[in-house]
Amino acid sequence: MDVTEKAIKIMKNSYVCDHCLGRQFAELLSGYSNKERGETLRKAVAMDYDSKPFPIHLPNFSGLRFRNSKPDIGKSGRCCVCGDLFSYMEKYAKESEKKMKIYEFDTFVVGSKMSDSLVMKEESLWERVGIKGSEHLRSEVNRELGKLIESMTGKQADEKNPNVTVLLDLQKKRVEIKSNPLYVYGKYNKLIRGIPQTKWSKYKVSVEDIIAKPFMKFSGANGHSMHACGREDIDARCLGWRPFVLELENPAKRKPDLSKMRKEINRAGKVKVKDMKFSNRKEVVAVKTMQPDKVYSVVVKFENPVEAMERIKKAIGTIKQRTPKRVLHRRANKLRNKKVKSIKWTKINKSKYKIVIHTEAGAYIKEFVSGDDGRTKPSISEILKNRAVVESLDVIKIMVR
Ligand SMILES: [Zn+2]
Repeated sequence: MDVTEKAIKIMKNSYVCDHCLGRQFAELLSGYSNKERGETLRKAVAMDYDSKPFPIHLPNFSGLRFRNSKPDIGKSGRCCVCGDLFSYMEKYAKESEKKMKIYEFDTFVVGSKMSDSLVMKEESLWERVGIKGSEHLRSEVNRELGKLIESMTGKQADEKNPNVTVLLDLQKKRVEIKSNPLYVYGKYNKLIRGIPQTKWSKYKVSVEDIIAKPFMKFSGANGHSMHACGREDIDARCLGWRPFVLELENPAKRKPDLSKMRKEINRAGKVKVKDMKFSNRKEVVAVKTMQPDKVYSVVVKFENPVEAMERIKKAIGTIKQRTPKRVLHRRANKLRNKKVKSIKWTKINKSKYKIVIHTEAGAYIKEFVSGDDGRTKPSISEILKNRAVVESLDVIKIMVR
């Protein structure tokens, strides 16, 4: 089928607008809009009719309207594919601009929800003339609305990194604006014991709450979540710098002064942050999948006075750890091999020692000390044949490159 033949086939039943006509030839005439393509094709079809004796090359042209034996290739009525959707674009762009005003943003993306009847009309056109070389209505709608919003707001359409999303709902015939999450990367210390890393109903406050508080106040976000590189126990301090990404949902403002935020977080002395910068979804994944070695400092209490402490060096190497009893209710019962890379100690008294342990990521330190009833082997208890428990635990180094 040549181009004019296909164009005639598209137009012959009822009026199809320039956008919808041009969109069926989206692969032709690059650099033009579908509307321009449609206009050009309409002219070409008209000229074709002028140059050839009517209507020999058209086996079935019913539906075309004629005036003085020349086809009126349709410039009246509503488009049978899109219902003249593109004539409402200006209105939708204005609505978007108005609703976007409450948000601070530099970039946006347009998405659209098609109504079932639009989808059906487009599909029935494809059934009739073929889908080859055509573009989806949705992509033209998104692009054209995007262009209008760009010129009205001076902001940039950016699919890869949009600050806000404009959703054109063609069923409800309205525009909804959603601000995309704001991500802030940083590293934290937890200076006190007894608070969890993330929201937990049993506890009044968490590391996440403390870090998120000034950001929530500033940005007017609806909620927050924290993505961190591992977590310390509630009763442990984290004196090594732990990388995290804070995610703020639907923020109205997205350019907080990070050094001001840092000062506010650090003021209470419970959590300390540093190295904050604006981040993205990708970094969430990077932070969550890092597996850095860690160094812990633990105060260990032994049941009996310790003899020959240097024997614990035997534990350097690979230890086998079954999921600890204390977390079995929420974690799968698995056997893990973990490397203990170094152990150093200082005596506090004859049955109490401070031990510094360097392990690879994911080792359970309390269980490495106690043995967890044989679930961790070897353990400090087992090697020294002296029941040992952790009295206090600090993460003192997180070895992120
Ligand atoms: Zn149309």
